[in-house]
Amino acid sequence: MKVDLHTHTVASQHAFGTFLENAKEAKNNGIELLGITDHGPSGPGAPHEVYFKMRKRIPKIEGIKILFGVEANVINDEGKLDLPEKILERLDYVMVGLHKNCGYIDQGVEKNTEVLIKAMQNPYVKMISHPYSNMIKIDIEKITKEAIKRDILLEINASCFLKHRVDKEEMSKLKIMIKILKDNNQKMIINSDAHSPHEVGDFDNVIAKFDELGINEDDLLNNDPQAVLKFFNINE
Ligand SMILES: [Zn+2]
Ligand SMILES: [Zn+2]
Repeated sequence: MKVDLHTHTVASQHAFGTFLENAKEAKNNGIELLGITDHGPSGPGAPHEVYFKMRKRIPKIEGIKILFGVEANVINDEGKLDLPEKILERLDYVMVGLHKNCGYIDQGVEKNTEVLIKAMQNPYVKMISHPYSNMIKIDIEKITKEAIKRDILLEINASCFLKHRVDKEEMSKLKIMIKILKDNNQKMIINSDAHSPHEVGDFDNVIAKFDELGINEDDLLNNDPQAVLKFFNINE
């Protein structure tokens, strides 16, 4: 597949690839459009917000388009993100994921859902990482419907499938997400969530589950880099 929009570099401090190592490996794996999305500043060891101001100066390599985004965190009950608006607007896109120890404290499914919906009202938010994860549980039906309403992309996270890390409950939430998206003719995206260069663009763990998940490549944006750029309002 040609697109991977969720990868981490050494800037996240618990990932191993540099920006260029990830880009080179992406190119080797056939990726034409790569997104670098290190964790927002409230994550443990995550980069300072200054890092996210550097979009105009990111490295370039031949034959692959690289986007500079963020996997932002929610830091309070108002759904506030861990980067100010003036930085969010400079990035190619903003992805949000609920993680532990990043500011927002788990308050159960109902409250978590309400807070994530507030975060989704931020106009810069274009994608949600691992929405079906049990790390901080949300109501997947409500979040999927909100994502459709606000034109926010939902991710199938390939790293969740490494070493059978997707448990039964997560799998059933993922299936609900997929069913609602498909019933509404909405595309979804598979991302690697790579924390090492060799993981970039590697979706084999998800592809192996396509039949069980009831999806095929036509349900994904991964083979249409131009559609992704258009979705993010990025002019070549
Ligand atoms: Zn994440
Ligand atoms: Zn991630």
